[in-house]
This record gives sequence, structure tokens and C-alpha cells, in this order.
Amino acid sequence: MIDARFFIALFKGSNINVVPVSLFQGYEQKSLIVYRNKKEIIVKMYCDQCKEYSKFNFTLASLNKPGGYRVCCAGCGNELGYVGPREDIEAIAEKHRRDVEALMREMGFDDYFTNPFIMYEMINHVHDMAENKKIQCQCGSYAVTANIGTDKIELICKNCGGKHIIKAASQKDLDIAKERPMIIIKSKLSGKKATGINR
Ligand SMILES: [Zn+2]
Ligand SMILES: [Zn+2]
Repeated sequence: MIDARFFIALFKGSNINVVPVSLFQGYEQKSLIVYRNKKEIIVKMYCDQCKEYSKFNFTLASLNKPGGYRVCCAGCGNELGYVGPREDIEAIAEKHRRDVEALMREMGFDDYFTNPFIMYEMINHVHDMAENKKIQCQCGSYAVTANIGTDKIELICKNCGGKHIIKAASQKDLDIAKERPMIIIKSKLSGKKATGINR
């Protein structure tokens, strides 16, 4: 008897989920779609960064390849996950979790933060947004610095001192943050200008 399933390890930020997929039933979620045509298994994985699916074809035999396959986004090249036999995929996921935990311990994350995984994710997310000029102050500035609390990140406009707080305590906070196309910091200048007119 052979196991009529193969396994997919999916990155979800710094987390990794192992998903068993039946060869007979396929799989359909937003992040992962699996179906078969006559000869092949088609795996489509969604890239959060590119907002697109990358598609991969596997023959049945290839799904048993020792070590599995590393799957990267066709658009940005980011690692999306691994596809292969159970033991290999579970081993890869386990190693990834240990690596992330070790990194967070090194950075002192687990002593300090309410939810180290969420905070780690949020810092990466905010950093990406800043790099892509998706954080802007109402005063027009893109120059932003950040203070990191135990459960929130405070963004501060370097130009006017305007502040914006991002909560980072739960998966919901992270989901909300990732939905937002831009972060707009409320400027301190607008208030001063208003009083200036009255003088
Ligand atoms: Zn991509
Ligand atoms: Zn500003």
C-alpha cells in the first residue's frame, strides 16, 4: 500500500503549515489550490507579495522524490513552500520552525513581546511597507522612524513628529495590517497651521 497523499509545507509569513493533500480529492483554499488532470497534479500557490498564483505541475511519481521540491514564486522569487512525501515535508517544516525560534531567541523576542511570532511578522511587514513607500505622513514626508513596544509599533514622522500606532498582539492585528494598502500618519503640522491662521 502507498499513502495516497502527498504533503505541502506552506509559508504563512514566518509560520509554516503542513497540509496533507489527497490525490483523489485535491484541495482548495486561497493560499493553495491542488487538482489533477489526466497525467499530472497541478499545484497553484498564492504569493501575498505579488497577489498572483504560481502554477507547478508534478507527475505522480515525482511527488515521492526524496527531499521534496522547493517551490518559489514565478514573479518575485520568494519561497512559497515545499511539495513532497510526508517525512521530508514535516522535517523541512520542523527545521524552519526551529530556525525562526532560534532567531527570535537571539533577538530577545521571546522575553519581551506579548506575541513574538506576530511581532516578528509585523516588523517585517512594516519594513516592507516603508521600503515600498506605503507609509506616508499627511505632511508629505516618507521619512519615518519606529518605536517597538511589547504589543505595538509606534511610527513617528521624522519631519513633523506625527504618530501612528499599529497594534501587534494577535493574528487579527496582523491580518488587518496586511489588508491595508497604505499607512497614513496623522501630521502634527495641520494642527499648528490651523492655530496659525487665527493669530
Ligand atoms: Zn511573488
Ligand atoms: Zn509629518
